[in-house]
Amino acid sequence: MLLLLVSHIDAQEIDTLIMESDSTDVFFEKIRIDNSVAYRNESTGEIINQAEYTLLCEADIPEDGSDHNGHNHYDYWQCDKINPYKDVVLSTPFKIEFDQETFTHPIDGKIVVTSRFGRRRKGPHRGFDIDLVTGDFVRSVLLGKVRFVGYSRGHGKTVVVRHANDVETVYAHLSAYSVKINDVIKEGQIIGFGGNTGNSRGSHLHLEVRYKGVCIHPEYVFNFDGSNSINGSELWVTNGWKSPRMHSSYRKSKIKPLANETVALDWQKNEPKYHKIKRGDTLSQLARSYSLRISEICSMNAISRRSILKIGQIIQIR
Ligand SMILES: [Zn+2]
Repeated sequence: MLLLLVSHIDAQEIDTLIMESDSTDVFFEKIRIDNSVAYRNESTGEIINQAEYTLLCEADIPEDGSDHNGHNHYDYWQCDKINPYKDVVLSTPFKIEFDQETFTHPIDGKIVVTSRFGRRRKGPHRGFDIDLVTGDFVRSVLLGKVRFVGYSRGHGKTVVVRHANDVETVYAHLSAYSVKINDVIKEGQIIGFGGNTGNSRGSHLHLEVRYKGVCIHPEYVFNFDGSNSINGSELWVTNGWKSPRMHSSYRKSKIKPLANETVALDWQKNEPKYHKIKRGDTLSQLARSYSLRISEICSMNAISRRSILKIGQIIQIR
């Protein structure tokens, strides 16, 4: 007997996934049956397994999956997760390339930034928040193909578009979608409507820029000052341009595009480094392992020698 084991649903799997298929506006809900993932067709109640679901969403990918550059643009082409690259480790610096110099703003009208990529009180923020009114158009910044249309508790209703250079843009907290998985969309095409779904307080667009699952500082890539320019045809991403803790979400970081590997390696050498406090860590031990004086650690972090280190606390060590 098929039994829905509610208690076996793990936190990651609770997110309801809604997928519209090509012809008939079919919605699927991601569920768990006997500890494996399945999908329920919301209109007919039919339940299909992961393999059948995958076939359904990958239906129109070319047989060899490759594009004109010969590289496989459809690697990790999964339409059931915002991030299918969980097992990919990218070492920094890495390169992203653009064959055009401009992009289209994701919303019409003036961009009002409400929170940037960086640290904030609640923890790291990996996106770029733009104020909007629920129902406002949200547009794809570049030409691309829709890889994900669905709901997650954090991001709310979300569309992920993969672009020709494998960069993906993520549009979160939408109120509604206007594209389907596998749609090829033009630059500036409306992908959905702004909203306040998921973990969001007040209507806004949370825009992420990702490369193989790694969130990159959106302003490192795209200039939102009105010029609509992309910061370079070749952009090297160092540790700092993918780490929210090196930026404040409350003020704009100085953007320094790194156009080749040499300057990127050089830049990365001077970026700050951090240590996350584990059980048993002490200031003197940290000083020893990073060849620093205790006083140097204290001044870098504005703490005193007598400060009590908390587990999970982030300490700058360079
Ligand atoms: Zn955000």
